Amino acid sequence: MLTDGFESKRENIRHFYAYFLAVILVLTGVASAENSAKQYSGGNPCDFIDSVEFNGTAANESVLWQTSIGPRLPGSNASAQLRQSISENLTQWSFEESSHQRENFTLTNLVGTYSPNNSTGQNVVFVAHYDSRYIGERDENETLRSQPIPGANDGASGVAVLIELGRIIPSLDLQHNVTLFFTDAEDQGKPFLENTWSYGADAWVSNLTEEYKENISAYIVVDMIGDAYLDFTRVSSTSDVLWDTVTPIAAALGMIDGEVDCQGNNGLSIYNPDPDDKRFVIDDHVAAHNAGIPAINFIDLNYGENASTWGGHWHTHNDTADKVSSESLQYIGSMLELGLRTDAWVWNHSEVQHENITQNLSEDEQNNSEQSVDEEVPNEIQNYPFLTFFGGVSIAIVLFLVVFLRWQIRD
Ligand SMILES: [Zn+2]
Repeated sequence: MLTDGFESKRENIRHFYAYFLAVILVLTGVASAENSAKQYSGGNPCDFIDSVEFNGTAANESVLWQTSIGPRLPGSNASAQLRQSISENLTQWSFEESSHQRENFTLTNLVGTYSPNNSTGQNVVFVAHYDSRYIGERDENETLRSQPIPGANDGASGVAVLIELGRIIPSLDLQHNVTLFFTDAEDQGKPFLENTWSYGADAWVSNLTEEYKENISAYIVVDMIGDAYLDFTRVSSTSDVLWDTVTPIAAALGMIDGEVDCQGNNGLSIYNPDPDDKRFVIDDHVAAHNAGIPAINFIDLNYGENASTWGGHWHTHNDTADKVSSESLQYIGSMLELGLRTDAWVWNHSEVQHENITQNLSEDEQNNSEQSVDEEVPNEIQNYPFLTFFGGVSIAIVLFLVVFLRWQIRD
């Protein structure tokens, strides 16, 4: 009798541990499935760095050509000529134009899509404004302040990088969509009037379907990235989770001081990845960020040698092609190409589960962007990670009690 009772109790203990282990395994599985839908996990950039094809010299030639056709003001012939040139040069892309009336002009967005046959449906969107500014209000020469500027860095540089990328992308064997979004009327704003900038990007984002928005795994803006004295930081109203994916890529290319590149050399101080050094910028990323899309913006705010923030050649008639360098375009273009080659900007989950995507936005990043003009973030985005965590813990406790009580009763 004594021996039998002891054996049966030992069997119950074994059952209890088996139940307990099963519960833990199920919970771990659920947790990792949830996390896999919201995480980026790119490959090692140094494994791909020798394959980079981006040609900074070709991009620089595009900057020269764009400035040669004159100011690309919304509705102008130069604006139409640039759109036509982009769609005619990128033959493997399908392009769509959409027009919107704003103030006294009509803006036209140009959107190119590349969608491979085996696409997961996720979409990496690269964004650059193709319009140039209608005034040079920062120019030293007062008589020139009301005249349109060349916009070599502010406009042409970002477009040049996107065109050169667009040439390469179809050969990359990607398994997701890529969109090249050339925005109009980013730079027609009135000084100090927040709501008069980025009309094109605002219009596009506000007309997207929920499904389209939820499939955008990364929305990456490039603006004013041709400065021969290139340097940039993170900016307000962006996704820190997405910025974190950039750090190893920039380090591999030797763009971060204190980090070694793929050859083992210390990097230059081109990109400062410190989230505390974030700068406030209103640009084409804001509408996307406010719509819950993970967005970042590569933008150099001090244009020219030793220029202060928003100083130098910015919004002056000195924004000419000779201030833009092939090397700077090469850095930015290589970074974008490496990000694609390493799959840094797609979620590591083959099936996109719409309700899970917004979990990308951590609570931390919501706190980091308080400088932004409009920081309304839907509640479900802020609360979801906590609900997941506390929900998981509660289920674990309940299951533990059920199994434990059942064991006690049998005993
Ligand atoms: Zn500008």
